[in-house]
Amino acid sequence: MRKIVAANWKMNKDIKESFEFTDTLVKNLLNIKQTEVILCPPYTSLFYISELLKTGPVALGAQNMHFEKSGAFTGEISGSMLKSSNCELVILGHSERRHVFNESDKTIKKKIDEALAIGLKPIICVGEKIEERKAEKTSQVIENQYNAAFAGLTEEQTSKCIIAYEPVWAIGTGLTATPEQASEAHSLIRNLVKQQYNENIANNMPILYGGSVKANNAEELINTKHIDGFLVGGASLKVESFTEIIQIVENK
Ligand code: PEP
Repeated sequence: MRKIVAANWKMNKDIKESFEFTDTLVKNLLNIKQTEVILCPPYTSLFYISELLKTGPVALGAQNMHFEKSGAFTGEISGSMLKSSNCELVILGHSERRHVFNESDKTIKKKIDEALAIGLKPIICVGEKIEERKAEKTSQVIENQYNAAFAGLTEEQTSKCIIAYEPVWAIGTGLTATPEQASEAHSLIRNLVKQQYNENIANNMPILYGGSVKANNAEELINTKHIDGFLVGGASLKVESFTEIIQIVENK
């Protein structure tokens, strides 16, 4: 299974900061052979840093997109605009989009369909809130989000997707899922893929863990069954800590 480490910078870093980070990262990653690295900066930095990524192992992703192709949607961005900024991937269904911007499963699904239609690979985030975990609804929440996202997708479309399990209570809080909690959720997700498609598609689906991943917990988590890499927020903002996480995954 390929290993992936993706950075979600959220609303951080202007063009100069993005450029300096990326320039250093590319130099730091000269010995990286097995791990796919994805940078998801703010929209404004996408095209600019893409110039630095042309020859290296780092792919470019966006943090969101609109499901329409164009039109009167002030402040929004379309998939084709992302593609023309040299983006290959897009994060969809991030918990901040779901819970801060009230995006529903239905909206996220429209975005996933549009991303696939125009040739962007979606990184689809699922995960439960703390009250849902406490009420023992974690599996149900993940299953509902998965079913809404993958409804009607062909095997070929699904093989272009990456799933990120991100328990909402672990994002930006310093709390991390234990390897047991993460493994349980990841194995549930892999089973959902297997039930809908087959073992081969399920075994090849990268399932990333996200939620306060740091250099000091990355090793334990990457050695956990069914964790194929990370989606990293806070610790991806410093090039040293992000490089360290990539090295840990590479050396696994
Ligand atoms: C995220 O935003 O996807 C994330 C996992 O953030 P953090 O690593 O800061 O918890």
